[in-house]
Amino acid sequence: MSEPQTMSVSATAFPAASAGFVEKTPLERYQPPAKPSLVGVSRVQLMQALASIGVPAAQRKMRVQQLWHWLYVRGARRFDAMTSVSKELRATLDHHFTLARPEVVAEQISADGTRKWLLRLPGEHSLERPHEIECVYIPEADRGTLCLSTQVGCTLTCSFCHTGTQRLVRNLTAGEIVGQIMVARDRLDDWLAAAQEGGASAASSGAGTRGKGSQRLISNIVMMGMGEPLYNFEAVRDALLIAADGDGIAISKRRITLSTSGVVPNIPLAGIEIGCMLAVSLHAVRDELRNELVPLNRKYPIKELLDACRNYPGLSNARRITFEYVMLKGVNDSLADAKALVKLLKGIPAKINLIPFNPWPGTTYECSDWETIEKFSEIIFSAGYASPVRTPRGRDILAACGQLKSASEKLSARERLALRAMAMTD
Ligand code: SAH
Ligand code: SF4
Repeated sequence: MSEPQTMSVSATAFPAASAGFVEKTPLERYQPPAKPSLVGVSRVQLMQALASIGVPAAQRKMRVQQLWHWLYVRGARRFDAMTSVSKELRATLDHHFTLARPEVVAEQISADGTRKWLLRLPGEHSLERPHEIECVYIPEADRGTLCLSTQVGCTLTCSFCHTGTQRLVRNLTAGEIVGQIMVARDRLDDWLAAAQEGGASAASSGAGTRGKGSQRLISNIVMMGMGEPLYNFEAVRDALLIAADGDGIAISKRRITLSTSGVVPNIPLAGIEIGCMLAVSLHAVRDELRNELVPLNRKYPIKELLDACRNYPGLSNARRITFEYVMLKGVNDSLADAKALVKLLKGIPAKINLIPFNPWPGTTYECSDWETIEKFSEIIFSAGYASPVRTPRGRDILAACGQLKSASEKLSARERLALRAMAMTD
């Protein structure tokens, strides 16, 4: 795979990193897009965009279909490539809009195929410095999962989460959320080639782990990166509806999981308006402890949260809620906690994901011992729940980050994000 010109492979600054490590470009080089991007706008907005540049009303629907296909099936990065669109319209589109995605400023590729991208977005005001977010791809034998961010930072202050210690910079737009998928498909060469069109199955020259026929590398999406998705509901909803659109990116809603720390009023909305799978960051079985770990619990305590889960639209044994439980040594990891957890979730079609705590500079928490995690997991398993503890992937990249003495907050944030995503993809 060829690297964009703006990147340079760092061999000296990060000696322990894998050959796939790409160094950050300086912030000064960032050029915010001059024209609005059509990436991540809804069909209705696309229709309005076409109206604004004088496309006759009778043609608009057909043009939207064409653009949608070029954008989300073929991954066109230039209007020029849209050969089924008239030359004149391509030129007009190019005059007013772009197909820009977030700028990739750093990429790390692990020996096991895990990839992490640092993406740069414009600030809210022209004088503001650009913002940065991260996005992780985790390939496995039967799937490829993309972990997306929904906010720059987070307004919530979960005591074990580093994102919670950073001030919220801003919500991402739907375009920036969809843009993360576009970037990942670009970098993985994961778009439908012309030869594959019409259902023809073609062997791929893609990034190595592609399945048979026209199956894509990115098969699953988890909203488990930076930010609380249910506090950026509209943008997350609009982005996920584009991701699930059968004529475009076409990732089934059953393969899209939204993780929330428990924004109770928006849980039914996620079920009704998005229809994706739900993951809930539970982490404690008593309100007293959960108030401390997830302060939002003071507003929406465990009982209210679990009631919202019980009533989640579309919930069934085939569509279970995933409960996330971070393993914190001596805090929430006793065998009594495991038993209480099983009792608490009784009657809710559930999966339980145990996440090894990933420490960060300044935290007072530690990860539970492996023996404790195993015992905890056994109790859950004997109660009839799948309770996978994910083996961390991309260790070579993580190790490289961990070895950096002067590791910036951003590098360690990337490390955390990867571990989190790895723990969550089952
Ligand atoms: N804000 C949402 C989604 C992003 S966080 C939420 O809280 O659910 C994704 C998951 O990573 C959550 O379950 C979160 O509790 C967990 N997490 C956060 N910091 C962690 C850490 N240091 N170690 C392990 N898991 C962590
Ligand atoms: Fe925000 Fe989720 Fe971190 Fe809590 S765990 S601070 S909700 S990102």
